[in-house]
Amino acid sequence: MDALIPDVPAVNRSPDLLAIRKNLIGLTREEIAAELVLAGEKEKTAKMRSKQLFHWLYYQGASDFDQMTTISKEMRKRLPETFTADRPEITSLQESTDGTRKWLVKYHDGQEVESVHIPEEDRGALCVSSQVGCTLTCSFCHTGTMKLVRNLTAGEIIAQMMVARDTLGEWPSPKGERMISNIVMMGMGEPLLNYDNVAKALKIIMDGEGISLSKRRITLSTSGVVPKIHQCGEELGVNLAISLHAVTDDVRDILVPINKRYPIKELLQACKDYPSSNNARRITFEYVMLAGINDSPADAKELVRLLKDIPAKVNLIPFNPWPGANYQCSSNNAIHRFAKIVNDAGYSSPVRVPRGRDIMAACGQLKSESKKIRASERNSLQSAQG
Ligand code: SAH
Ligand code: SF4
Repeated sequence: MDALIPDVPAVNRSPDLLAIRKNLIGLTREEIAAELVLAGEKEKTAKMRSKQLFHWLYYQGASDFDQMTTISKEMRKRLPETFTADRPEITSLQESTDGTRKWLVKYHDGQEVESVHIPEEDRGALCVSSQVGCTLTCSFCHTGTMKLVRNLTAGEIIAQMMVARDTLGEWPSPKGERMISNIVMMGMGEPLLNYDNVAKALKIIMDGEGISLSKRRITLSTSGVVPKIHQCGEELGVNLAISLHAVTDDVRDILVPINKRYPIKELLQACKDYPSSNNARRITFEYVMLAGINDSPADAKELVRLLKDIPAKVNLIPFNPWPGANYQCSSNNAIHRFAKIVNDAGYSSPVRVPRGRDIMAACGQLKSESKKIRASERNSLQSAQG
């Protein structure tokens, strides 16, 4: 327990208090104010206090009320009796030779998810999970073989970002260059099946007085939960990535079974209607390369035909094998032949390189297994790239 609350004075560490204290991470200003009122604060001052707390929590990254020096000493002493700003426990933190970092974080009920940071020279993306496991059963995805345990709360989603920033020392929110300059909702789970919590978390992350990350720097990846796509564009306006992976309903029904409910035609119509897409902000189509399944030149030509009239780019992802998977990664030749057809038709179609691939491999994999997978995956990728 002590590891969970390193900064809380010993007097506040009794298990009884821990059980009832409310974690403020994940609350909006209004919700913080309401909690303060419940705790006995007057309505008038609660509003002002909630603004201060919002600033300390999400702009300064304070996890200890004692750090919140604009709040009166007396109140700073009282706050930890009712509230915490504790982070989830970091079960493991690994750094690969290329600088990629992987956190396995454990929430209060013992459930764990992974987040991954992929640094670039002057920026970096954090891959964030939205659920523990996934209810969907895409046949090439390891997460799909896990039973869904539960949705993450908004606080648990934001906490992944806060933990990463604690480790990287990126507080207060920098005005200029950032190590975590982008967020990709591409971790474990289907974000649009936990839409309310994901939306709340992203709105707090985008708030200019807190973490302050622009919607242009956030990408949400979905397997195609069509009814939520429009809402996501309207309310959040983040970049959209679609896990397309096949060009016919017959094949997609098997790879991405949610296709039986929302077939390719409906999915692409939702993309055409996506409120914030245009030529400057194109929709990313993710396409996993599976040998003999979806990687022929005819598939590539059909993909080009399907994407007509959609501001699109294509991400070709060499398949990441896992124990028990029924697929193999396409050959180097097949991948590049496919990429050339799509590229010649005017669509950017990069093949994910090992580092980018690391995001996919890390996200949605339990750590014990992901270690093994990444080693084999790296080998196959290196050969795929020649
Ligand atoms: N559930 C969301 C986001 C998480 S998965 C979605 O499906 O879009 C992030 C990406 O990794 C998706 O495009 C997914 O199809 C892809 N992916 C899953 N398993 C993979 C594997 N074994 N190899 C390569 N890509 C995989
Ligand atoms: Fe879930 Fe995405 Fe994996 Fe499909 S690919 S099982 S939607 S995490």
